Amino acid sequence: MREQRDQHPAGPRTGQHEEARAERLARRFAEEFGHAPDGVWRAPGRVNLIGEHTDYNDGFVLPFAIDRAAMVAVRVRRAGEAGHDVVDLASTYAPHGAGLSRARFAAGGLAPGSVPGWGAYPAGVVHVLAGADGADGAAVPGFELLLDSTVPVGAGLSSSHAVEVATVVALNDLLGRGLDRPAMARLTQRAENEFVGAPTGIMDQSASLMGRAGAALFLDCRTLEAEAVPLPLAEHGLAVLVVDTGVAHSHADGGYAARRASCERGAAALGVASLRDVPADADLGVLDDGTARRVRHVLTENRRVLETVERLRAGDVRGIGRLLAASHASMRDDYEISCPELDLAVEAATAAGAVGARMTGGGFGGSAIALVPAEGADRIAGTVTEAFLRSGHRAPDAFVVVPGEGAQRVR
Ligand code: ADP
Ligand code: MG
Repeated sequence: MREQRDQHPAGPRTGQHEEARAERLARRFAEEFGHAPDGVWRAPGRVNLIGEHTDYNDGFVLPFAIDRAAMVAVRVRRAGEAGHDVVDLASTYAPHGAGLSRARFAAGGLAPGSVPGWGAYPAGVVHVLAGADGADGAAVPGFELLLDSTVPVGAGLSSSHAVEVATVVALNDLLGRGLDRPAMARLTQRAENEFVGAPTGIMDQSASLMGRAGAALFLDCRTLEAEAVPLPLAEHGLAVLVVDTGVAHSHADGGYAARRASCERGAAALGVASLRDVPADADLGVLDDGTARRVRHVLTENRRVLETVERLRAGDVRGIGRLLAASHASMRDDYEISCPELDLAVEAATAAGAVGARMTGGGFGGSAIALVPAEGADRIAGTVTEAFLRSGHRAPDAFVVVPGEGAQRVR
């Protein structure tokens, strides 16, 4: 199912103004809950530079955290406080009216499906966190949380993981759990898979947790071994332009799960535990045509990630352009997860002078990225917008993103 989303104005960009933003959020928290928060944390959204649908195949990805983030002010309820077990959530994102979007549930005894709407993301984190150390649900006390995010919702930039990661880093600090970043990545993945019910991989939360300013995160999704690979865009006169098509993508729909199932079928038929283990000279002719194309995307995409990393290590940022283009073609033709708007964004950006472009994220909608000459970013964005309008599509939202720092406490 594809539909148009309400485009939520993302508000001011995170980055240099973060402390002021945290200050404002803490003030709003005090107005809302009647006392100060214990602290403020931020967790960024991400774009994936290359390596799509490789994460759940134990493969390689190369995302970067962006300069747009979910920010949460949190206060844990004290022992003996009335409603000690109650979690109170509020978000400034209220698409269907003014005021805050609220959710409320008991921290103990959470079960999948018991919290509707966006509250399911923080609730999933509580649910898994409570079991992570073998304790029961009462191990996580109630808390108050006020969320404000500049990650556009439903654009494929992982606004949902930003919410989960902001929640887990805050609770990890406040409850003194001492979890490291890979452990928090696995925990939020379980929250998403087991509680929210989306069969997503490990990439998005890893990027949000482990991203580094000025770098992309080269992640081995089998071991969670991570390396920050310098991405000196500005030095090379380049920028990454995001084109949010406004077409809603949803992991809960069948497409994502169907691709995962194809990969599992392919791996089984080839006699390997996961597509990561397929030898370079494997004969895909034993697979039916559809499965063979899905498998070919994953195998070639893993190679493209490795080649992109090599190029970047060699300081050849421009050289990754053709790999981005090849990645898009593979997703369009072999993996079949693109859509007319994403293809148009890629074609129009490339025709207007992008060094390379591809859809990013799960597919079927969401955003494309284009590696563009920095001084041409506005012009290329304008040209892409014209192409959309000419083709009868709604104008996309196009903006430059900068590789930023991963999740952290800001106050
Ligand atoms: P994406 O992660 O690509 O933005 P998803 O459909 O996976 O898209 O996640 C979007 C969902 O995440 C929203 O429908 C909402 O439930 C939740 N969400 C994200 N940001 C916020 C926010 N600022 N406030 C409340 N909920 C949010
Ligand atoms: Mg998401």
